[in-house]
Amino acid sequence: MKVSELYEIPIEEAVEELKARGAKRILLQLPDGLKKFSLRIAELLQYEGFEVVLSAGGCYGGCDVAVNEATAVRADAILHVGHLEFLKIRKIPVVYAPLKVVRAPLEELASQIALLLPRGAVLGLVAQLEYVELLPELERKLQSKGFRTLIAEKPLILGCDVRAAESIANKVDAIVVLGAGEFHALGVRRKVDVRVLLADCERCEVRDLAREVKRREALRWEAISKAKEARRFLVVTSVKPGQFKLGEALKAVKALERIGAKALLAVVDEISVERLYAFTWADAFIIAGCPRLVFDHFEIYGKPVVDVEDVKYIVEEEFGASAKQEGT
Ligand code: SF4
Repeated sequence: MKVSELYEIPIEEAVEELKARGAKRILLQLPDGLKKFSLRIAELLQYEGFEVVLSAGGCYGGCDVAVNEATAVRADAILHVGHLEFLKIRKIPVVYAPLKVVRAPLEELASQIALLLPRGAVLGLVAQLEYVELLPELERKLQSKGFRTLIAEKPLILGCDVRAAESIANKVDAIVVLGAGEFHALGVRRKVDVRVLLADCERCEVRDLAREVKRREALRWEAISKAKEARRFLVVTSVKPGQFKLGEALKAVKALERIGAKALLAVVDEISVERLYAFTWADAFIIAGCPRLVFDHFEIYGKPVVDVEDVKYIVEEEFGASAKQEGT
């Protein structure tokens, strides 16, 4: 199903999979940016004989599968549009229909890269989900302009998982992130020590995000420094399957208590600014959920917000905040 000049959603393949699974009632889940297509997709599913219930909740990644909503409406399966499988969901079948790109300005992007980097430079190539299949074509275009290239072995990057870029960072002069919008490339630039260029297919523009990452890192350390002065902490985790970090959250509570602070654990479906502001007693918030939430909000209503991974800097001890996620 074509949804714009640039993208299509392979709904027909998903329909076949749902039929093969014998599903009747489907919970249809889409990120906010794609919810405008929910009517078209629902009508197609209804035409194929399925009963459809829409998930109206937020949806930010494959980590965020609406298992509880599907269970509540007794759905037989979830059709999750826009992302790939992030973790195994055991409670209910989930069929994924990620966005596919139908057109991308690769020649123009390669030309812009050639204006920024010298011929002969070695470029590492990674991409966000929708653009991974286009990397070989981008590679050919870059090679024709005199670059040497290296596509990461598993070149997919997520907002919270940039191992693809880390795996090649010390072998290249720069990393090109093929995608749309700054979200994924910012995550890469934070974690690697080489130049990173975002090749943005939607804006047909190549950008260097070093300055923005530097600005956000300064805000991160400022928030950690302010949190060191706090005495009352709210540690929050989310019940979203891929963001449920109960083990890490509990360890953070204990570590904060050891330094004499008051720390309470809270749980919520979606961690948001709106959900936190009512806890007026808290001097600082610790987020044990999507790590990118903190990277976009270092302060909420004048109070510091710190990712659970950074609590070690507040308590000045390692407390093993690397417990694995407790998925559904
Ligand atoms: S945890 Fe955050 S960054 Fe990772 S997939 Fe989920 S929404 Fe995206």
